Amino acid sequence: MSQRNKRAIVTGGSRGIGRAIVKELASRSCSGVLFSDIAFINNSTEESAAEIMNELKDLTDAKIYAFKADVTSFSDAQATVDDAVSKLGGVDILINNAGITRDNLLLRMTEEDFDKVLNVNLKSVFNYTKAAIRPMIAQRYGRIVNIASVVGLIGNPGQANYVASKAGVIGFTKTMARELAGKNITVNAVAPGFIETEMTAKLNEKQREQLLLNVPLKRMGKPEDVARVINFLCSEDADYITGQVIAIDGGMTM
Ligand code: NAP
Repeated sequence: MSQRNKRAIVTGGSRGIGRAIVKELASRSCSGVLFSDIAFINNSTEESAAEIMNELKDLTDAKIYAFKADVTSFSDAQATVDDAVSKLGGVDILINNAGITRDNLLLRMTEEDFDKVLNVNLKSVFNYTKAAIRPMIAQRYGRIVNIASVVGLIGNPGQANYVASKAGVIGFTKTMARELAGKNITVNAVAPGFIETEMTAKLNEKQREQLLLNVPLKRMGKPEDVARVINFLCSEDADYITGQVIAIDGGMTM
């Protein structure tokens, strides 16, 4: 399959890491990318897609579509995949990116915040993977990349819900890699460290300095640092890689 002819779905693609992934895939590997989001806070779905396509107009003529969907809902995930099949003609790549944090020490963490984070970060991966593998199995080709986090590998106080969800994503990734290998579908995860997005914008200067003490490369990551590795995992160069978790963290975990 030619590099530029792939068709991708990216969850949570309107901003942050997801937006960088949409742009990277559309400009390097795909003829079409459909991204889903829950809110589309600043724009309607159509405006969000048009805005990204406009930013890329000098780099690619790939088609970009947006679809309003809640990743916690299986029927929304199925509707996203159906829309991608109808607009793009199929699905070759699935990037499970949407995620949230609701941080607190366990003594103060509410049951609602635990359930919410598990639903958005982990059940979403079940929803979209289950919906997307049907067309992938039929064509005997698929590339799935799940966005975990380094804290899913090493733990982090104040994030029991988030860490449990990301450790769950890693276990799910390895199991899917084993289940789907015979169908020529690879399933990998990336584990970003501290990446500059709205999710980490809440950190104050002191917290940033403290965090950077543990980053040998001495800077926070950019969304593009993550997007480039994901594009690699979806490329022919990575055809023999499955079930792996690649840390993109400036050396924080090694
Ligand atoms: P972000 O800027 O907060 O963006 C999160 C995205 O997820 C948004 O597009 C949001 O959509 C979407 N989303 C949230 N809840 C949703 C739902 N119920 N249904 C559909 N979409 C939903 O976050 P980010 O920093 O780019 O993070 C992206 C991924 O990387 C997450 O899985 C996160 O856990 C992971 N990660 C981030 C870092 C970091 O340092 N930033 C580190 C490690 C891992 P709306 O725009 O519609 O709200």
